[in-house]
Amino acid sequence: MTDQYAVIGSPIGHTKSPLIHGLFAQETQQDMSYTAIEGPVEPQDAFAGAVRAFGAAGGKGMNVTAPFKLKAFAMADACSERAELAGAANALRFENGQIVAENFDGLGLVRDIEVNLGLPMAGKRVLMLGAGGAVRGALLPFLAARPAELVIANRDVAKGQALVAQVGGRGPLLACGYGDLEAMGRFDLVVNATSASLTGDLPPVPPGVFSPEGTAYELAYGKRLTPFLRLARNAGVRGVADGVGMLVEQAAEAFAWWRGMRPQTRSVIDRLTVPLD
Ligand code: NDP
Repeated sequence: MTDQYAVIGSPIGHTKSPLIHGLFAQETQQDMSYTAIEGPVEPQDAFAGAVRAFGAAGGKGMNVTAPFKLKAFAMADACSERAELAGAANALRFENGQIVAENFDGLGLVRDIEVNLGLPMAGKRVLMLGAGGAVRGALLPFLAARPAELVIANRDVAKGQALVAQVGGRGPLLACGYGDLEAMGRFDLVVNATSASLTGDLPPVPPGVFSPEGTAYELAYGKRLTPFLRLARNAGVRGVADGVGMLVEQAAEAFAWWRGMRPQTRSVIDRLTVPLD
């Protein structure tokens, strides 16, 4: 019987996940279907009901996207350490009547940077802008990549400091406000993990943080040169990238978790890439 998977979010019309998983299934010859479900935002418990109904009907797994990642984590019976730290799930697996939660966003991001872009983070100075769900999901995989220093800058500094208090023991992590960045010199990698680009805004990051030989990475994708990437370019940075590779790599991690085999990602990334210029 064909195994059923789905992505759930709201609004879900824009999702690329059915296309990505369809291409993975074709390449690896897996007998599976993957659909998109518009999740119910109201009433409060309707989302959990929709997920349980999918599992009860024989569903094997789901991806979860905005605005449901926190609810998906909260309703799970078990979870990985990554999902626990993020307090959010972007993938679920139904097994023996239980719901298991995972968070592959950070792993996908690290894999895109280190493998696809060929930029090992070990020994590098890394700056991450933001302290929301994407940053929480990325902290453990980033620290595992052993940067010399990982700085998180956020408007709400207390949010970043809370993350340092939670995982600071795992590596050289520190939190600051944007105003502190002027004095911190250049970084080899600057990652915009704020949601500013979704509204065409720019986080108040000083251009002095960019290193011309370094890389600027924007988590949003398909938006060409965002104000953040433009700022980096104007600061002389040659290496700029958006989050399409992260999107495909987190999907590949979920696919491997569900199906026990990792699909290749290069051709899928190429197919979804919108040129930056
Ligand atoms: P959250 O809503 O959890 O967090 C938003 C963060 O952005 C907060 O730190 C907030 O700061 C900051 N922020 C928002 N607006 C501004 C602004 N104008 N200037 C400075 N900071 C701002 O979002 P997520 O962490 O879930 O997502 C962040 C981004 O990552 C989004 O663009 C999302 O699309 C993208 N993403 C991409 C993925 C991919 O596969 N490529 C996967 C997941 C996310 P404060 O706390 O101070 O309010």
